[in-house]
Amino acid sequence: MFEENPDTLPTPHDKTGPCPWCGRISNYESKPHGALAGYNSSHIGWIQTHHIATLTCSGCKRGTLVVTDQMGEGIHWYPAPGMGILDKQVNREVASAYDEGMRCLSIGASRAASVMFRSALHLFVKDKGGEKARGERFLKPALRHMKESGDLHKSLWDWADHLNQLGNEGAHPEDYDEVTVAEAEGLGKFVHHLIRHEYEMPAQLLRDQGLLNDGEPEDADGQSEHEANLRPSGGLNPSNSD
Ligand SMILES: [Zn+2]
Repeated sequence: MFEENPDTLPTPHDKTGPCPWCGRISNYESKPHGALAGYNSSHIGWIQTHHIATLTCSGCKRGTLVVTDQMGEGIHWYPAPGMGILDKQVNREVASAYDEGMRCLSIGASRAASVMFRSALHLFVKDKGGEKARGERFLKPALRHMKESGDLHKSLWDWADHLNQLGNEGAHPEDYDEVTVAEAEGLGKFVHHLIRHEYEMPAQLLRDQGLLNDGEPEDADGQSEHEANLRPSGGLNPSNSD
């Protein structure tokens, strides 16, 4: 059975998730387009291995192409989710690592997802941490330094303190233990909250006071007057070369 998970990219079997175009957590209308590939089995006949569907976002009405495997799991999305999902004030490297972690999570690659989420956290420490935090090799003590210097909210530190995946870092990247899907998802949620708290909320606060003018603000009520200019990141829109 497929469970609906609003944190993962949408598939025809899980029609909720972040929209690669507008970045909202959305519901989707799914339209199947048949098989992309398959093979002939002498016993059963034609077996489809890859399916294509478009999922239309109920928010921005734009479509995302999804390729699913034989089991119905999503394996490819166009447009690929990019930094368009996160506020533009989020450190680019942090956002890029987080997005890649989310893509790993979407295809059940939980160990790869954890590596990317931890990478996002290391980049966050590098970006926002003080000298002591930046000098730490491991995440947990680095984040503890950031809590002590007031660079990390206590509630986020408390959460970090309880995350398995921040405690069993080995001396080498290959020393990591197996990572369960639940652990990777938990880590992803933590990184998302941290990004929201440490980058997006401060940026939004400044914008709302008129102190930060960085282009089109994301509005809360769903209808952006700059909707036509929104585009997925990563230069996917050939008509827009900025
Ligand atoms: Zn959308």
